[in-house]
Amino acid sequence: MPATRKAGPRLQDIGAVPSKGQGAGSDDGKFGLGYYAKLFTSLGVGEDGKVGVTELLSRLRESGISESDPRVVEVWAELRRSVDIEGNSRIDLNRFIALCKKASVVAKAIKGGFVIPDFGALQREISAIYEGLRRVDTGHVANYIPQLGRVDPEKFGVAVCTTDGQRFAVGDADTQFCVQSICKPINYCLTLEEHGAELVHRHVGREPSGRGFNELTLNSDGLPHNPMINSGAIMACSLIRPQQDMADRFDYVADTWQRLSGGGAVGFNNAVYLSERRTADRNFALGYFMREHGSFPESTDLVETLEFYFQCCSIEVDARSLSVVAASLANGGVNPLTGDRVFSADTVRKCLSLMSSCGMYDYSGEFAFTIGLPAKSGVSGGLMIVIPGVMGICVWSPRLDALGNTVRGVAFCKELVARFNFHVYDSFAAGEVSGKRDPRRGKNEEEIASTMRLLWAASQGDLDDLRIALATGKDPNSTDYDKRTALHLAASEGYLEIVQYLLSNGADPKATDRWGGTAQTDAARGGHEEVTRLLEAVLEDTPRAIPEQQPC
Ligand code: GLU
Repeated sequence: MPATRKAGPRLQDIGAVPSKGQGAGSDDGKFGLGYYAKLFTSLGVGEDGKVGVTELLSRLRESGISESDPRVVEVWAELRRSVDIEGNSRIDLNRFIALCKKASVVAKAIKGGFVIPDFGALQREISAIYEGLRRVDTGHVANYIPQLGRVDPEKFGVAVCTTDGQRFAVGDADTQFCVQSICKPINYCLTLEEHGAELVHRHVGREPSGRGFNELTLNSDGLPHNPMINSGAIMACSLIRPQQDMADRFDYVADTWQRLSGGGAVGFNNAVYLSERRTADRNFALGYFMREHGSFPESTDLVETLEFYFQCCSIEVDARSLSVVAASLANGGVNPLTGDRVFSADTVRKCLSLMSSCGMYDYSGEFAFTIGLPAKSGVSGGLMIVIPGVMGICVWSPRLDALGNTVRGVAFCKELVARFNFHVYDSFAAGEVSGKRDPRRGKNEEEIASTMRLLWAASQGDLDDLRIALATGKDPNSTDYDKRTALHLAASEGYLEIVQYLLSNGADPKATDRWGGTAQTDAARGGHEEVTRLLEAVLEDTPRAIPEQQPC
């Protein structure tokens, strides 16, 4: 029989009182006994002073930590083994602490300390967007090679991985597809890591071309416009470990994909590669055109370079893995699951800048305007979206629009930024008034922060901040725990100008705090005569005494 829950167990009930040799001094503080005991208690401690493994596992799952997460695989396996004589799986505080010390992510998950504190809410929103878009059947699957032409157009998968490694996927997120153009940002990063930006950009520009992704055109320096279009991507391939043989060069790129995806599903589609090579007249033309202009580094083997490029396009991933790749970019080059620094922060910054301006073919400008996020799409219907510092997302749906972008992928992005303030220029304050949510904040956190801002501004006499708080839609009569309003606080400090401003913007002079006091009684107690007189007049004759509306 599982032990029943007991409300508010005392620390000694769960063994959280330091025993001999377990001095509070050595192990207390931020990650001390008290810290772990609070987390442990939050899991619902039973009369036996233990918590159920099921509760612990479901808290981890709810926070977005999956069983395959390399940070918790051992802990997860250990928890599954902890079954007592009665067949119940329950652990005590010491065991819990040992688990937290083995995998610090466990404590962070239970504390709700991840970048998306309410991960369940985000999952529900993403699932709703996904369901809404399943009906969309416009666009056509790419058919320039039979391997792409044969892909089921109905396939649709979405996967998310945050910079804290919280993961979620829906639909066909485990089906492999070839990365095609999504290899371009990764190859560009590799060139930056190997040679530095100065040398790389002697061979490739960094401006949007304003032309088709495979158009036979170079910039005024005779260089490809940027590494996100075919000519620039071919150029990038010429710069990746050119001194090595082809097999080693490919291994190096594939290994980078493995590291970025944290050991996720990364493969190679040989049929795609062979087809790409056979139908590559335009890419060969681009290669010869660049060679004619002397754009390549000296001693570049053009055919090898092109074959290397086709191989990179033929790398396969699934949506789950690609979301981790995107999350590694969102995390400044460090894989959030393995902690592996794959690229430097500087490399990622440069790459994301070019993804923002050139990542979506001829839709890049419009995408930057409407969506405002770095992204890269490919003709296989893959789309990698990076929300810097927050998460990586992959959408895979093979039907493409006239510009070569996945139809459902672009629609997904529009829905996403309509609901959340992820557009790079959605300021947090604007989010509060536009109705867009900020999932980086926990439940009620936004409300608490804006109340704090209003009350703090009033208590400090900071009129500018007060104006901003009210202009972003904050209720002037919001209260703290003691039901004290901004007017109470300003009155007790004697800030006449603040009191006038609040009154002219809807503050209620009759509002009482938990002790029955009004702003007027506060002002009188503080000996602030002018403020007291104003509030008395307002209370006696509200319509006449309130100063005229002042604009926020
Ligand atoms: N393999 C394709 C090509 O180079 C890549 C196309 C793409 O995804 O943009 O033509």
